[in-house]
Amino acid sequence: MIHSFEQALELILQHATPLSPDVVSLGNLVGRVAAEEVSAPWDMPRWDNSEMDGFAVRAEDCSIGIELNVRGYIPAGMSASGVEVTPGSAVRIMTGAPIPVGCDAVVPIENTTPGDDKVCIDQLVTKGDFIRFRGNDMVSGESMIQAGTILRPAEINLLASFSRLQLKVYRRPRVAILSTGDELVAPGEEAGDGQIVDSNGYSLAAAVKELGAEPVLLGIAKDNLDSLSEKIKAGLEADVLITSAGVSAGDRDLVRDVLEQAGVKQLFWKVQMKPGGPTAFGVKGKQLAFSLPGNPVSSMISFEQLVRPALLKMLGYEKILRAPVKVTLKTPLANETPKLRFLRVRVRETVDGFIAESAGNQNTGVLKTMLRANAIATLPPECSTLQPGDSAEVQFLNPEQFSACSVTAADKI
Ligand code: AMP
Ligand code: MG
Repeated sequence: MIHSFEQALELILQHATPLSPDVVSLGNLVGRVAAEEVSAPWDMPRWDNSEMDGFAVRAEDCSIGIELNVRGYIPAGMSASGVEVTPGSAVRIMTGAPIPVGCDAVVPIENTTPGDDKVCIDQLVTKGDFIRFRGNDMVSGESMIQAGTILRPAEINLLASFSRLQLKVYRRPRVAILSTGDELVAPGEEAGDGQIVDSNGYSLAAAVKELGAEPVLLGIAKDNLDSLSEKIKAGLEADVLITSAGVSAGDRDLVRDVLEQAGVKQLFWKVQMKPGGPTAFGVKGKQLAFSLPGNPVSSMISFEQLVRPALLKMLGYEKILRAPVKVTLKTPLANETPKLRFLRVRVRETVDGFIAESAGNQNTGVLKTMLRANAIATLPPECSTLQPGDSAEVQFLNPEQFSACSVTAADKI
């Protein structure tokens, strides 16, 4: 059952749904996705207040050089009740303090010459100056956070200002990760002849963690039915199970059989993509099971392209696919296969836009190229060789880290 990349992704996304919400406390909300709407419980600011340290005045009393009698003081945190700005007078006021009766403007201290109990106005004053009016920021009932909003420090500030101590956010999927293969030993263990260290387990756990989901490392299963059955059964306690290796055509590639025996309905087991072709996907009720290829580069690309969108959807994200960005090629790129090709590239920003070059040897056995890459170019099946100067589409792997690769105007194609 071979699926195109688009069909495979669509099938996965049909089965990935946001998990039921958790109630999480204010201190732990950053990076989570809101599962409920939040409206302003009151006007913000709640009352007219001073934008500056200075003097509360009546604008009509003010002209340059005039002296006003200072009567009263309202520091931040004090009520203005009982304080009034009467004709010819001013009240000393601090930033954030409530505007007293009679005041229609604030004169910043730097626009005055203060005396003992008098103040001289040195600048023109207009009604409304330096007053933050009630509801100027938001009005009671205004919708401020919608379900699907990612909670950043700005949203946390808003929630705290509303005194919200908790919020419903989408639950983080628990993602069990299982490495399979007789040749594997755990990191830290001695690798004997013919053995290699399991690097996929930690790499996939890191990728899961980076998205905000919760990885559960199951370790290594041997290429036999008993070992695989035991570990896969444990893995199916989680929301998502990701296995690596053992899904090709070899006689020890038993992962799919064991998943099926464990009740996982297989929906596809080959995708027209390279790397990542031998990827299988199945479901057991609401649980998802991804079987990724064993090759480290292939497992990472397959995760990036097929698992990441599913996890983001389960986490409540609305934008789950990396936006394609147009780049100009500096080196040729080719895809002569009938598969969608993902090529590791290095993109830099210049005054002429983004330029991309191959990050190195594209063989899936070469991890070094993955380390050098900051983006993945997508080449449609059987597209002719793209030449330097041609445009191509890439997905940035970590856009927030991209600026580290920026270069100066001198770096042109
Ligand atoms: P397989 O899909 O089982 O044929 O494995 C393909 C290649 O990936 C083989 O060279 C494996 O040794 C390698 N491989 C499999 N699992 C892992 C792993 N967990 N970490 C690193 N390499 C792996
Ligand atoms: Mg194997």
